[in-house]
Amino acid sequence: MPVSVLSVASEAVPLVKTGGLADVAGALPSAVAGHGIEMTTLLPGYPAVGKAMGKGKLVHKWDSLLGEPARLLAGKIGKHKLLVLDCPTLFAREGGPYGDVKGKDWADNWRRFAAFGRAAADIASGAVKGRKFDLVHAHDWQAAMTLAYLRFASTQPELPAVMTIHNMAFQGYYDAGVFPRLGLPQEAWSLDGVESYGGVGFLKAGMQMADVITTVSPTYAREIRQKDFGMGLEGLVSSRGDRVRGILNGIDEAVWDPGEDPDIAASYTRRTLGKRSANKRAVEKEFGLERGDGPIFTVISRLTWQKGMDVLLEVLDHLAGIGGRLALLGSGDAGIEAELHEAAARHPGRIGIRIGYDEALSHQLQAGADAILVPSRFEPCGLTQLYGLAYGCVPVVARTGGLADTVIDANPASLAAGVATGIQFDGVHYHALCAAIDRANALYYQPKQWRTLQQNGMKADFSWAASGRAYAELYRELTGKTA
Ligand code: ADP
Repeated sequence: MPVSVLSVASEAVPLVKTGGLADVAGALPSAVAGHGIEMTTLLPGYPAVGKAMGKGKLVHKWDSLLGEPARLLAGKIGKHKLLVLDCPTLFAREGGPYGDVKGKDWADNWRRFAAFGRAAADIASGAVKGRKFDLVHAHDWQAAMTLAYLRFASTQPELPAVMTIHNMAFQGYYDAGVFPRLGLPQEAWSLDGVESYGGVGFLKAGMQMADVITTVSPTYAREIRQKDFGMGLEGLVSSRGDRVRGILNGIDEAVWDPGEDPDIAASYTRRTLGKRSANKRAVEKEFGLERGDGPIFTVISRLTWQKGMDVLLEVLDHLAGIGGRLALLGSGDAGIEAELHEAAARHPGRIGIRIGYDEALSHQLQAGADAILVPSRFEPCGLTQLYGLAYGCVPVVARTGGLADTVIDANPASLAAGVATGIQFDGVHYHALCAAIDRANALYYQPKQWRTLQQNGMKADFSWAASGRAYAELYRELTGKTA
């Protein structure tokens, strides 16, 4: 029996993306389709979404969605069903999904995403004629209030619900003063409801009410039971016991295939790795690096504390000192950007940086650099190390979250067994990262070992097939609908 799922997300490729959440929400409908799951994705009507979907078909109207007139438009995202919440006062704004053109969060984000949740709950409860759902799947705090409205403000029987956490660092926590304006009954103001540390916790509410909480790797699912990772919600995570599960993200192999990638200088496969060198030359040129045989490290990342970019800054002199080169693509923290410019000026030809977001260049870097550094302090899943594996760009990663689950450290045992795929290190600090870079450097000069690392990574299967099956099984478990 098919299962009809409403996936509620604030971003999804190819329409709108700020991070890994968009990759997952965009890939999920296809990943589960083969398992008899029919997924409809609900997105807010940002200008980019409206433009991409064209006119859309009007399927529902609200006179007052938290006080705002709104419409629901139906269209397609790829081959799959899309619903867009067209509410111009809340979503038709210049800037990003969550903030203005300067990156400052909108002051009324609580209201924007409460309204989004309210609409999702109405849709899930059957407000739209001809559309019935068996289960609702909410992603991150922006979609989490869906579950609160389903529990406290719907007259329909509650649907089974999955809450996926893509990053515990973003919780949608607001002052208690917003509660009366959410349109929820007083009983929702409780520990079993939306109340959290004296305020309103959007993600907390979703986690409280979901039948199952998933996060994007098994290790992160365990880590968020601890204080450093749970960020205040570790007690709630622990109390939900085996209702908290980890399902690894996959990668879109149609987009990330070095054998057929229009964005790279030369295509190659596991068997034709030699052709990869043309990509290395392209990276040297693009980043103004001196030509050489030594390793090129890359970083493709948000420039933030979470990603360990402050520690990366500390090791740049060491990296250049041992003959390494770095090609970095990223944007984020202004202070980190400024220090990167300084490091590049100190090491001309050795450190090249590009500040900004450039999807095509990120492909060229994965194809041309020798190793990708991912020194994250926490990493729910991480995608760049997976792209690195697929492209023979050996990942050098902190042993945390999805990084721990996807990279096999090149220790003597795994090297002897011929299964290593990269390098892991413990603790994101100067000495640990320097030592990891040194290990990578030493392995690089053992060409046979290095090629085996590359080829093992390229062989590894991180497609959506396994993850899609895991989500489909979860939906069936919760709806009781068998295949
Ligand atoms: P997060 O979602 O925490 O930022 P992930 O590793 O899960 O981290 O996903 C980041 C995604 O954004 C990857 O697809 C990565 O390639 C991409 N990305 C990050 N920074 C840039 C950039 N400056 N230019 C192009 N792509 C980038």
